[in-house]
Amino acid sequence: MKTNLPVALVTGSTSGIGAAIARKFSQNGFAVVIHSRASSDAGRKIAGELPAAFYVQADLSVDSDRERLVAEAVARWGRLDVLVNNAGISRVVPHDDLMAANSAIWRELNEVNLIAPFHLTALAETALRNAATSGRPACVVNISSHAGVRPKGASIPYAATKAALNHVTKLLALSLAPDIRVNAIAPGLVDTPLTAEWVAAQELWRTRSPMRRAAAPEDIAQLVMMLVESDYLTGEILLADGGLNLT
Ligand code: NAD
Repeated sequence: MKTNLPVALVTGSTSGIGAAIARKFSQNGFAVVIHSRASSDAGRKIAGELPAAFYVQADLSVDSDRERLVAEAVARWGRLDVLVNNAGISRVVPHDDLMAANSAIWRELNEVNLIAPFHLTALAETALRNAATSGRPACVVNISSHAGVRPKGASIPYAATKAALNHVTKLLALSLAPDIRVNAIAPGLVDTPLTAEWVAAQELWRTRSPMRRAAAPEDIAQLVMMLVESDYLTGEILLADGGLNLT
């Protein structure tokens, strides 16, 4: 089914930040591709609730699944205007326990948080360039983390993959301009299933951050839409931590 609507593919969009981003795109008149690694029922349910959406399951640690995801997205709607690389994984490891941050953890985080966003962008490049011929640049938004900006975060491997994703964002912004803009959002704490048990971080944001709260997923979705609508912005890493970095 081809569409005249702009199309957004949001990875990891069955829960948390990704689900809020997908709903935001839909509210703003986009056709949406919902994706997750495992939760197919939730994916189909969300897709069924939105006026123009469909769901694709794909494990982003697997090359062939990444290829299938982009191919199915483009085949279904006939175009792709926005790619949001939101899917990501975290592992909690104390920063001073170096042996606990083992090679297996480094490899799995690197595969999902860094290599997958780059590979998906490469796979989507042709479709995104085609979308840009309609008069507006296409857009990639990477969901990074404040842990990639400051020496903080759930573990050193997590922070390092997000720092690398920030750098890749800038490199791709240079390589893909002017047809495709590439930006990142670096959230602080966001209330999602990923952080439901992070009691110390929740206390930190409540007591020390200038905004006195963690972000809601909808706060991050609003920033994604702001980046998508800002045709002149590229290569930006938007730190969205409620001002915690100022303290
Ligand atoms: P979440 O656990 O609710 O959602 C993560 C999504 O990623 C899920 O839909 C899951 O299916 C998908 N995913 C994970 N591994 C995958 C794989 N191998 N293949 C395909 N999909 C996979 O988490 P969230 O809190 O909504 O996080 C979304 C993004 O925001 C992540 O990149 C995370 O690092 C980032 N982030 C979150 C916070 C926070 O406080 N929640 C802060 C900073 C950055």
